[in-house]
Amino acid sequence: MRKVIYLDNAATTRTDPAVVKEMTPYFSECYGNPSSLYDFAKLAKDSVEGARKSVAQLIGAGQTEIYFTSGGSEADNWAIKGGALAFADKGRHIITSAVEHHAVIHACEFLESRGFEVTYVGTDEFGRVRPDDVRNAIRDDTTLISVMMANNEVGTIEPVKEIGKLARDRGVLFHTDAVQSFGHQRINVDEMNVDMLSVSAHKFNGPKGVGFLYIRDGILPKQLIHGGAQERGYRAGTENVPGIVGMAKAAKIAYENYEEKQSSIAKLRDYFVGRVLSEIPYTRLNGHPVYRLSNNASFSFQFVDSGQILIMLGMKGICASGGSACNSSSAAASHVLLAMGLPDELAFGTVRFTFGDENTREEADYVVDELKDIIKKLRDISPAYQEYKEALK
Ligand SMILES: *Cc1c(COP(=O)(O)O)cnc(C)c1O
Repeated sequence: MRKVIYLDNAATTRTDPAVVKEMTPYFSECYGNPSSLYDFAKLAKDSVEGARKSVAQLIGAGQTEIYFTSGGSEADNWAIKGGALAFADKGRHIITSAVEHHAVIHACEFLESRGFEVTYVGTDEFGRVRPDDVRNAIRDDTTLISVMMANNEVGTIEPVKEIGKLARDRGVLFHTDAVQSFGHQRINVDEMNVDMLSVSAHKFNGPKGVGFLYIRDGILPKQLIHGGAQERGYRAGTENVPGIVGMAKAAKIAYENYEEKQSSIAKLRDYFVGRVLSEIPYTRLNGHPVYRLSNNASFSFQFVDSGQILIMLGMKGICASGGSACNSSSAAASHVLLAMGLPDELAFGTVRFTFGDENTREEADYVVDELKDIIKKLRDISPAYQEYKEALK
C-alpha cells in the first residue's frame, strides 16, 4: 500500500497494535462462549467482566451500568428508542439538537413516524446548543433529552453538564452521544448529570464493531435486541469478546498520558489551522474557537466544491472528509453546517481534517502545501470565483 497521510480520525482510527495484540488470543485460544459453564469459558467471561469494570471506572460509573453493544449507532438507537418507549406512558415528547449524528437524528425520525413528537433545538453559529433553548423546549410530556458531548463534523463541545442539570431538575432522562469525546475529553457521568452515554471503540484506536451504552442504575430503556440473557438480560447476543477486550485496552491507553497526548495533538492542529487560514484566502474555520475537540479542523473554502477537493487530496495520498464520513456518498449539504447557518455555497466547500497522535508536522506542512495548490487550481476553473473577481474590478 502507498503511504497515506491519514487526517480522518473522526471517521475511524487505526487500531493500536498493542490493542490487536491484546485481542489476538481471544480469537483462537481463549475462544469460549462467556455463557458456557465449564472452566474453559470462564476465562472469556472474566475478561469481559474485567473490561466492563475498567471502562466503568474511566467514566466514574459502576460496573453494572455498562452494557456492551455493536458500536455507537446501536448505543444511540438503544438510548433513544428504548428510552422513549420505556416512558411512553408518561409522555411522547423528545428533545434533541439539530447537529446530532444520524444515529440519533434518524432514530428520532423513526419515533416521529410512530407518533412521538421531537423538538430539534438549533445552535449558534459555532454549532453550540444554547441551554436556554433546551429549557424552553421542555414540556410536561417531555421524557427524554439527547444532546451530544462533542460534534463529529465541526468538533464543537456542547454544554452537556448544564443541559443535564436542566433535565435532572425537571425529571427528564438525559442521554449524550459521547462517541467523539471518549478518549478525547474527561468524562464523569455524575458530574455531567447524564443518565445514558454512548461510546464506540473505533473512534479511539480500538476495533470496529464494538461500543457500549452507559445506563444509570435504576433506569431501564426498553430492550432492542431480544434473545439470550447476555448483558444482564437487556442486550442479547454472544459477547464480542475480542472486541470488548480490545476496547478496554484502547480506553486504558487513551487515558494514559492523556493531557500530554491531547495537548500535542491540539498544538499540531493549531499550527495547521494557522497556516491554512493565513495562506489560503476566502477560507473560514468552522466550529467553536474555544469549546472544541483538540483534533478537529473543519474549513469552508469559498467558490470550490469539497468533492473535488477530496478527490484531488486523495490523489496525493491525503485522507480527509467532507462534513462526516456517513455523508460522503450523499449529495445533500451537511445538516450540521446548515444548522449553524452556513449558506449552501460554503457548506458544499467544507473539508474536515481530524488529527491523531501519529500525525507529524511534516505531514501537516505537506498537506497545507498540496491544499493550497489544489484550491488555487479549482478556483482558477470556478465560474463563481471568476464572477466574483469580475465584480471586484
Ligand atoms: C461514529 C459516530 C457514531 C457511530 O458509531 P459507530 O460505532 O460507527 O456505529 C455515532 N455518533 C458519533 C458522534 C460518531 O462520531
